[in-house]
Amino acid sequence: GAGDIHAEVVVLGSGPGGYTAAFRAADLGKSVVLIEKDSNLGGVCLNVGCIPSKALLHAAKVISEAEEMGAHGISFAKPKIDIDALRDWKSSVVNQLTGGLSGLAKGRKVTVVTGFGTFTGPNMIEVDGAEGEKTVSFDQCIIAAGSEPVTLPFIPHDDPRVMDSTGALELADVPKRLLILGGGIIGLEMACVYDALGSKVTVVEFMDQLMPGADKDIVKPLHKRIEARYEKIMLKTKVTAIEAQKKGLKVTFEDDKGETTSDTFDRVLVSVGRRPNGARINAAAAGVAVDERGFIAVDSQQRTGVSHIFAIGDVVGQPMLAHKAVHEGKVAAEVCAGNNRHFDARVIPSVAYTDPEVSWVGLTETEAKAKGIKYEKGVFPWAASGRSLSNGRSEGITKLLFDPEDDRVIGASIVGTNAGDLIAEVALAIEMGADAVDLGHTIHPHPTLSETVNFAAEMFEGTITDLI
Ligand code: FAD
Repeated sequence: GAGDIHAEVVVLGSGPGGYTAAFRAADLGKSVVLIEKDSNLGGVCLNVGCIPSKALLHAAKVISEAEEMGAHGISFAKPKIDIDALRDWKSSVVNQLTGGLSGLAKGRKVTVVTGFGTFTGPNMIEVDGAEGEKTVSFDQCIIAAGSEPVTLPFIPHDDPRVMDSTGALELADVPKRLLILGGGIIGLEMACVYDALGSKVTVVEFMDQLMPGADKDIVKPLHKRIEARYEKIMLKTKVTAIEAQKKGLKVTFEDDKGETTSDTFDRVLVSVGRRPNGARINAAAAGVAVDERGFIAVDSQQRTGVSHIFAIGDVVGQPMLAHKAVHEGKVAAEVCAGNNRHFDARVIPSVAYTDPEVSWVGLTETEAKAKGIKYEKGVFPWAASGRSLSNGRSEGITKLLFDPEDDRVIGASIVGTNAGDLIAEVALAIEMGADAVDLGHTIHPHPTLSETVNFAAEMFEGTITDLI
């Protein structure tokens, strides 16, 4: 039947996946309704993810660089931190982007419906908003409901001193002692921010390395640097209890030998992963299958088991990254408009915007070893890069992995300042099927960090002559 509103394409969720899909579908001539529960468009990424974290990381970088210039003959006074002004600046960056999205939606005649959407049938969503309920009927639908932070049963999440990433980005204060529970990308980025602002940071991680998934040798320079700056890094340790006390949060740790210790912190950031929002949208009413974790399975055209319903972004699986959501959003919108597109990216880069940054794309050595994939490597230590020495930050490493059969580049891992920007070149190289000679013979500007990619290829080729 017809809903209160009808659209050819309805997009559920306005994060990077959802707004990209909505805008692309509209550009291709479809009438589009975009449903979002929050008052601002942009989803996690713009409001409480990628963007506010990068604004704060920029501030952190300026603070720590100013501190470290002392060793090179330039000393600044201790920074005066006006936390309210910093928070306002972060919010202004977010508002500029989310406000921009509203304008872009209007310009394309995308109708935004505010409220929580749930399926009531294969062609109908009910939206529960501030002004009551509204039904939206559709010919095709793109689910872009995203994800939310994982909570743990033994943690008093209702205590305001226990934060998730959203709470940490609110920047309520600068806690004296902060525990980061979970040494993954999001936890370590926030650790970096609070360390620069003056917190004494402890990181606890269950696995035997920070940033599990990334190669150990690549994580090492980051580990070394933060170990020197932070109060403590605990590996192979789990948190078994958190007790809210008046003087702080009493945390119990258990190491891999079963020994327990406890310590008290002013705040705890729980960053142990994200879970997809698929279980909340009553997808069953539309016949769309959601697995027990909340993920929705899709084919290479982003189609769910129901042929006119698509899904994209965090809700369809790992890696939960904005650039993956955006790419999938374009694929889904174009398929909705009748184009024959598939998600056929060979690789999706991952970046931790810590200091130093850590990035990887395609095959890692960890994965190659686990799967028995043959590879050869070219490794360039940044201590031999003129630019990284000039920056006073020579701890980086650029590592390229090659297919031994044809010398094509199949993966890269980079640690160092700006590693996130550097990885894009290798992503392109892999998409283009470039080999070691292609990377080694491409003239890179000197002196830049981009040369480290060029040099790593030359290390593999054995053609490097001078290390500068
Ligand atoms: P989301 O951005 O999660 O958006 C989903 C939207 O749907 C939300 O607005 C939600 O309110 C809405 N919604 C959900 N259910 C309903 C419903 N039933 N009805 C109405 N609306 C609904 N990724 C990167 O690539 N780079 C980074 O630097 C980066 N940094 C991050 C930092 C932090 C602190 C966090 C938490 C995440 C970060 N990410 C980063 C991950 C990135 O934010 C996500 O991968 C991305 O936002 C996923 O986009 P999405 O479109 O799938 O969904």
